[in-house]
Amino acid sequence: MDKKIYITRKIPEAGLNLLREKGISFDIGKSKFPPTKKEIVKALKKKPYDGIISFLTDPLDKDIFNACPTIKVCANFSVGYNNVDISEVKARNICVSNTPGISSTAVAEHTVALIMALTTRITEGDRFMRKGKYKGWDPDLLIGTDLKNKTIGLIGVGQIGTEVAKMLHYGFGLNVIYSDLVQNFELEKATNSIKKEKSEVLKEADIISLHVPLINSTHHLIDKKSLASMKKTAFLINTSRGPVVDEKALVFALKNKIICGAALDVYEFEPKLTLGLNRLSNVILTPHIASARQSARDMMAEIAAKNIISAFETGKVINSVIN
Ligand code: NAD
Repeated sequence: MDKKIYITRKIPEAGLNLLREKGISFDIGKSKFPPTKKEIVKALKKKPYDGIISFLTDPLDKDIFNACPTIKVCANFSVGYNNVDISEVKARNICVSNTPGISSTAVAEHTVALIMALTTRITEGDRFMRKGKYKGWDPDLLIGTDLKNKTIGLIGVGQIGTEVAKMLHYGFGLNVIYSDLVQNFELEKATNSIKKEKSEVLKEADIISLHVPLINSTHHLIDKKSLASMKKTAFLINTSRGPVVDEKALVFALKNKIICGAALDVYEFEPKLTLGLNRLSNVILTPHIASARQSARDMMAEIAAKNIISAFETGKVINSVIN
C-alpha cells in the first residue's frame, strides 16, 4: 500500500508490525515525552502524510491539519479523544478512531486499588514507616474505613464504570448507585444498582468515582458546590480526565475537611499539580497510569494500526469517535 503515516511517539511493535505487513511506511517522533504542538507541526511539514497515530497529549487541531492537509485519518492511542478538535476534523472529512474497551479492566482495577489504598490508609502507613515514626502497635494508629455495606456512587457507567461497580459489589459487598445520561439495565441487574440524579449520588454515596469522558458538559462536573454536597466522610476518585474536577475547589475541600479524602490518576493541568495538592496527606496521586499494562498497550497499538489500515482500505475506521 503506497501510504505513509506519522506516529507522534513510539508505540509497541505489535502495531508497527501490522503496518509493515500492509506496506504502510511510517516515521516516529523521537521524543520520549509528549511533543509540543510546534514539534508535531514541524515534523508533519516534512512529508505529505496520509494519516497520524496520536496520543492523548497531542493537540490535533487546525494548526496540525494546516501543516499537513493530506491527512485523512487519525488513530488516537487512547480511549479518551478530548485532544482532537472534532468540529475541525468533521469539516475536513478526516476519520478519527480511539481504542475503546481494551484498558477497561486495568483502569477499573486501578480505581479499586486507589479506593483500597485510601480506606486502608496504605500510602500514609508507608510514609509513616519510612520516616521511622513507628514506635510500636497502637490501637488508635491510622484508623481506616470499612467498605462492606458502604455505598459506591459512580458517575458514568460505560465500560470502566460498569467494571468498577461489579468488582466493588461482588468483591467487597458495596451497594451501587449511579448517574449517567443513559440507563444501564445490565449493570442494574448484575449489581442491584439504582440510577439517580447526580445530586442524589453525591449526597448519598460514601465513595464517588468518576468515569465520564471529558466533553463540554463534563468539564468541572465536580465543582465547589458538588464537593460541599458530599458526605464529610466521603472519598472522591478520579481516573477519568483531570478537568472533570475543579482541582482548586478539591484542594479547598480536602484542606477544610469538607470531604475525607481523594485519589487522582489524572490532573486538571496535567502534568502540573494544582498548588497545595501534593502537601495534603488525605490525597493519593498516581501519574496517569491506570491503564499501564503491557498487554493493554500492545492491544492499543494493534487497534490503532487496524484503524489506519481500515481507513486506507475502506475509507472508514473501525472505532470511529465521530457520529
Ligand atoms: P464509555 O464511553 O464506555 O463510558 C462513558 C460513560 O459516561 C457513558 O455511559 C456515558 O453515557 C457517560 N456520560 C457521558 N456524559 C455524562 C454525564 N454528563 N453525566 C453522567 N454520565 C455521562 O467510556 P469508558 O471506556 O468507560 O471510559 C471513560 C473515560 O475514562 C474515558 O473517556 C477516558 O477519558 C477515561 N480513561 C482514563 C484512563 C486512564 O488511564 N486514567 C484510561 C482509559 C480511559
